[in-house]
Amino acid sequence: NSPTAELQALDAAHHMHPFTHGAGLGEKGARIITRAEGCWLNDSDGNRILDAMAGLWCVNIGYGREELAEAAARQMRELPFYNTFFQTSHVPAINLAARLAELAPGDLNHVFFANSGSEANDTNLRMVRTYWQEKGQPQRQHVISRWNGYHGSSVGSGSLGGMKGMHAQGGMPIPGIHHIDQPYWYLEGGNMSEDDFGLARAQLLEEKILELGADNVAAFIAEPIQGAGGVIVPPATYWPEIQRIVDKYGILLIADEVICGFGRTGEWFGSQTMNIRPDIMTVAKGLSSGYQPIGASIVSDGVAKVIDGVEFNHGYTYSGHPVACAVALENLRLLDEEGIVTRARDETGPYLKAQFETLTDHPLVGEAKIVGHMGSIALTPDKASRARFAGEAGTAGFITRERCFANNLIMRHVGDRMIISPPLVISKEEIDTLIERARRSLDEAHAQLQE
Ligand code: PLP
Repeated sequence: NSPTAELQALDAAHHMHPFTHGAGLGEKGARIITRAEGCWLNDSDGNRILDAMAGLWCVNIGYGREELAEAAARQMRELPFYNTFFQTSHVPAINLAARLAELAPGDLNHVFFANSGSEANDTNLRMVRTYWQEKGQPQRQHVISRWNGYHGSSVGSGSLGGMKGMHAQGGMPIPGIHHIDQPYWYLEGGNMSEDDFGLARAQLLEEKILELGADNVAAFIAEPIQGAGGVIVPPATYWPEIQRIVDKYGILLIADEVICGFGRTGEWFGSQTMNIRPDIMTVAKGLSSGYQPIGASIVSDGVAKVIDGVEFNHGYTYSGHPVACAVALENLRLLDEEGIVTRARDETGPYLKAQFETLTDHPLVGEAKIVGHMGSIALTPDKASRARFAGEAGTAGFITRERCFANNLIMRHVGDRMIISPPLVISKEEIDTLIERARRSLDEAHAQLQE
């Protein structure tokens, strides 16, 4: 048996994979990733693979940055752990909170740490409900989110998310969480213009608020651009209308920036790209470029002032873990000082957009949407009618993903959309390679689908 086969057998015997467990790797076994550098992964068979997903949308700075390894090692030697409960604090958590307050827009000046996006959204759910209790409006407990949004996998964050497959397992959503339809024009827009559809979908928020009673609603949560739902870029009319509605009813707005944050949409935060004013932002992933597990809620002065007045019974052993904070700080320093975010916005972002959009000339591609370094294409059997494939949704996406895999390119599929979210440090040459491999994979998938 080859070393790869042995590892695959052990993996199959003992390792339960997130999400795809039981989804049938069949005879093939898992692909075993051994090293990575820049935008490139190595596997145990010696292949070099272009990672157009930055891991799970997180390795914004690229793989293999020694500075981050050094920051972790330094911090582990000095203070590997201490908690931030009971009026204790430590330098990395303090400095990271202060740095996030500086980077975050508006009056988002207060940071509650978690270890992941899921945990941070659980924090948000409890925080907004506590906020209204303390404001003397204890009936304001309902939270509105969107179908096909993704906010994490814990029971709280999974309930906020709108993934029906997840809700079917394990008793979600928990009470008090309500979902409205997403602004997904391509598949759901029918004959409406994108702008009209964006407005109509935003107005569903107002309808839901009125249905629940405006005085009963605590918050609306959404991703500036839905990521895991398929990189669904909302029509330009959508967010201004949502902002108008939350302002009108005084409802807190939570922007889930777990994917959009830290340069992915071209600005530091997707809220800046979409020109919205959240009361709370959820961050994780790009905060440490995935080098350490860390998430956070970044909270406005107004919300923090209320929460500061109560004993908020919430926290994680590793909230503000010193090693994770030290690594995140170093990551933010490099993203800033090396101009990685601004270069992604001004140089590689526009280049990637231009190249990515050329894929619309492919017979299988119905649309290509991209903002900054997150994009997706819709696969279709008929471009003119934006038709879905007959049979099970996701088959064409799966076939295309497999062809990408065979061509040493990681693209993800969500149903029949193909997604990219490459490291922000991707070069123009690497973008050319990405597009060339994507095109080859689409050709092969197209041929296979016609068999
Ligand atoms: N929110 C969004 C928008 C996400 O995309 C994700 C993960 O993909 C999460 C929250 C959950 O984050 P985590 O997987 O770190 O718990």
